Amino acid sequence: MISAREALERLREGNRRFVSDIRSGEDADRSPTRRTELVAGQEPFAIILGCSDSRVPAELVFDQGLGDLFVIRVAGNIVAPSQIDSVEFAATRFSTRLVVIMGHSWCGAVLATLEELQQPTENRSRNLRSIVGRIQPAVEALLTTELRHDPDTLVEQAVRENIQMSATQLRHGSRVLEQLIQKDGLLVVGAEYSLETGLVDFFDGVPEPD
Ligand SMILES: [Zn+2]
Repeated sequence: MISAREALERLREGNRRFVSDIRSGEDADRSPTRRTELVAGQEPFAIILGCSDSRVPAELVFDQGLGDLFVIRVAGNIVAPSQIDSVEFAATRFSTRLVVIMGHSWCGAVLATLEELQQPTENRSRNLRSIVGRIQPAVEALLTTELRHDPDTLVEQAVRENIQMSATQLRHGSRVLEQLIQKDGLLVVGAEYSLETGLVDFFDGVPEPD
């Protein structure tokens, strides 16, 4: 089992390789040999709850191989009961100690939520409701501030607020997760991927360096 700190370091290194466009065959093993080895079982070192956006595939942006990451993707990286269950499953079954909530710049789900909230109620889409409903609490307060006149900064802030809210929800999502955090070194951190630079900024819940 690798610790949360060590796992975080591996992700940072992998992201640095991705940004510099260095492919590391060793660290990101996708070989037939590795595939065969993994039939017997997996031991993913990190759980990533990220957005479904096609531009943010976790394995690629962290340059990881088969069996390395347990990935849950959902539009807007929201935390609904099935996401909590998936995280709990991986954390208990594989002893994975790091969970990353990964949002990203210009998230379409966050943009859609802001648009919906700025529209009259009768024009809102029914289909979007389940996602918008989850993101709304994170962003609605921003619409009462001066940021509503500054669309770009508004989106930037909203993306961050939504990541932080998801991380908080996950930390208190279930008794099992709370216990793992308190007693077994499980760490939940929030991160934002930049579509522009490819960099992942771990900005929420990251422990101080030793
Ligand atoms: Zn997104």
